[in-house]
Amino acid sequence: MQSDCIFCKIIQKELPADFLFENENLVVFRDINPKAPVHQLIVPRQHLRSINDITISDGQILTEMIFTAQKMAVKLKIDRSGYKLLFNVEKGGGQVIFHLHLHLLGGWK
Ligand code: AMP
Ligand code: ZN
Repeated sequence: MQSDCIFCKIIQKELPADFLFENENLVVFRDINPKAPVHQLIVPRQHLRSINDITISDGQILTEMIFTAQKMAVKLKIDRSGYKLLFNVEKGGGQVIFHLHLHLLGGWK
């Protein structure tokens, strides 16, 4: 938990969010400013700043994030039409919240 981190506060339920799934390792909530008909964020409970900060020992959580995205896509029935999975990395890569998260985007007609 990092005290000035919005996503840590959402995970701790100190700030509201529209939760779609959670388990002991990660949470999924709706993006507040959706850039696609479906736009969810898959967020590890552990505070990691960005993809730059991960090591091989974070492999399990990264795998679980991708697997969760796959399951959410099936649940939303966008798995066959297709979707995007995106990590923005640091400012130049469009990252504005410095708590690792995977964007799940899809649902276009
Ligand atoms: P990024 O640019 O990769 O750091 O993405 C951050 C995402 O978080 C953006 O798509 C924002 O719309 C989203 N976001 C920011 N604040 C909130 C919030 N309080 N609840 C849900 N999504 C948020
Ligand atoms: Zn955080």
